[in-house]
Amino acid sequence: MTSPHRVLVLNSGSSSVKYQLLDMRDGSRLAVGLVERIGEHGSRLVHTPADGERRERTAPMAGHEAALRAVAAELSADGLGLDSPGLAAIGHRVVHGGLRFTEPTVITDEVLAEVERLVPVAPLHNPANIVGIRTARALRPDLPQVAVFDTAFHTTMPEHAARYAIDVETADAHRIRRYGFHGTSHAYVSRETARLLGKDPSEVNVIVLHLGNGASASAVAGGRCVDTSMGLTPLEGLVMGTRSGDVDPAVTFHLRRVAGMSVDEIDELLNKRSGLVGLCGDNDMREIRRRIDEGDERARLAFDIYVHRLKKYIGAYCAVLGRVDAVTFTAGVGENAAPVREAAMEGLEILGLAVDAELNAVRSGEPRLISPAGSRVAVAVVPTDEELEIARQTYSLVNN
Ligand code: AMP
Repeated sequence: MTSPHRVLVLNSGSSSVKYQLLDMRDGSRLAVGLVERIGEHGSRLVHTPADGERRERTAPMAGHEAALRAVAAELSADGLGLDSPGLAAIGHRVVHGGLRFTEPTVITDEVLAEVERLVPVAPLHNPANIVGIRTARALRPDLPQVAVFDTAFHTTMPEHAARYAIDVETADAHRIRRYGFHGTSHAYVSRETARLLGKDPSEVNVIVLHLGNGASASAVAGGRCVDTSMGLTPLEGLVMGTRSGDVDPAVTFHLRRVAGMSVDEIDELLNKRSGLVGLCGDNDMREIRRRIDEGDERARLAFDIYVHRLKKYIGAYCAVLGRVDAVTFTAGVGENAAPVREAAMEGLEILGLAVDAELNAVRSGEPRLISPAGSRVAVAVVPTDEELEIARQTYSLVNN
């Protein structure tokens, strides 16, 4: 009999669970799926096995336990159930690991208690992750389960990059500092960039631009993160689909004092109704490009603001790193939107950055270079794969 070689990756949100089952012998997907609207009327499960038809069902699922049981039933129908001996571990995406979790960690009661202690700094994300972990542990208490933290890759940031310039006692009392997010993606993409350049990660300095609906940049020196654009929460930094990114903190006081908005309303404004959607009503870059092609001025301005912020971070991270070997685009926008890549690099020749129009126009799911041959700094597109990275980290931990 072969030893257990499958890893189930769970990404639990407040009303959804995304999952993938991977075969770690070759990193292939055996099944992928999603449960949405958990706890609402008409929860929906969509399950796609690697060698079968996509299956969809709508049924009431009161909570995460019902959802996970439904996922387990789908996997069982494919002969890949949670009780099958081939399952080596479950890997959980956990958004906030604070300063304590710098590595993927086997989940124990003590670890779970520590993740719970981090809820005040991650009130929107960690509670859902905790429910997912509890549910999976109840279903398979004997199976190793691993937490892979979005913040872990960024814990190598030096203190001068991680600290806000606010009163030290107040900051420390409330654990206020820059933690950074999307770490699993930045880790994977910076490593794959080194591989694309034929180098060891320890030899290269990379700026990673993770441009999805959420967006963040990171400066990675020799495989270690030295700065990243998200902060205490994922709100800081780049312009995103629905988040503002950087604003003067006094904007919030102004909205409170002058506009009379409540703190929750301001939170909602900056996280859900700002960024591209706030600027032009759309957060999908495809739609924004279509509108620009039709001469829409608001879409044009939104695009220009998005690109301007991106350029500022690229310039800043060139300064932080000193020597840059590659700038890498990833995630939905970064991988697919050639006009964003072109516009972000425009005028940055002084930094050794340029894109080749033909290479930039190529559509591909493979890691690739888009800079002209012989460029001082490589510009690359590397598709991210957070689930594979979570599965790899989980598997290597339980296999040691
Ligand atoms: P993600 O969060 O990484 O899944 O990225 C989602 C975002 O990627 C969407 O909101 C779109 O703005 C963008 N996106 C996806 N596909 C394309 C595409 N073909 N062209 C431009 N943008 C895209």
